Amino acid sequence: MATFKEFRNNVKPNWCPGCGDFTVQASIQRAAANVGLEPEQLAVVSGIGCSGRISGYINAYGLHGIHGRALPIAQGVKLANRELTVIASGGDGDGFAIGMGHTVHAIRRNLDITYIVMDNQIYGLTKGQTSPRSAEGFKTKSTPEGSIETTLSPLEIALSAGATFVAQSFSSDLKQLTSLIEQAIRHKGFSLINVFSPCVTFNKVNTYDWFKENIVNLEQFPDYDPGNRIAAMTKIMETNGMLTGLIYQDTTRKSYEDMAVGFKPEALAKQDLTLPEAEFDKL
Ligand code: SF4
Ligand code: MG
Repeated sequence: MATFKEFRNNVKPNWCPGCGDFTVQASIQRAAANVGLEPEQLAVVSGIGCSGRISGYINAYGLHGIHGRALPIAQGVKLANRELTVIASGGDGDGFAIGMGHTVHAIRRNLDITYIVMDNQIYGLTKGQTSPRSAEGFKTKSTPEGSIETTLSPLEIALSAGATFVAQSFSSDLKQLTSLIEQAIRHKGFSLINVFSPCVTFNKVNTYDWFKENIVNLEQFPDYDPGNRIAAMTKIMETNGMLTGLIYQDTTRKSYEDMAVGFKPEALAKQDLTLPEAEFDKL
């Protein structure tokens, strides 16, 4: 069985020292080992942004995709090889701005993949512009007078879109994040994990200390039931979206693959998936 070290490769991340994305990478590697995967059983597909580099830093199949399009690619990978564990990843700009249409529909489609968003509430790769996750009043070079737009709530949107697994974590909390990724991989359906992952270079407001002061860990509520969708929505709103832990899980709904008629064993048995030799020569 592979250890987390076997999910490392020899590519040195070029994230800034202190960037939250380092811990997200380590958590994925640990979770993959903890659930018993081998590197060739995992595919990591990423979008564009600092966080998008993560697919190149993990010893697994990796694809650094295009902006906002990690999820269409990841869904294609999963449909082509349903034996693979597929993780899609990217930033808040990638997944909640240009990619939001894909995010909402991937959630309601409920393919068995895990989507990890590194949410730093800013565009880091392009040197610090306001993102859909930036707070109202947030000043950057794109909003010098302060943002006048409402901050998008990915957890509320995910629940409204019919998500079957919604979690949130903080990149400083390796233990919680690793456990949530393990639970997400084991969940039979689409899993969203939004991770507060500070950008130490461009976001001087939402810092590690700021998150430590503002995060509300679900451990504080021992009676909380993640199977209750209404309670989940209420708790998200009560905590202004700062909740961390497993917020919602529906274990009753089947995944897309388990429902699609074309993927039933009897349908697959009728399909001839081998390419004629002449077609191979053209590839
Ligand atoms: Fe991380 Fe920000 Fe540096 Fe990008 S710019 S690597 S998000 S700290
Ligand atoms: Mg970002």
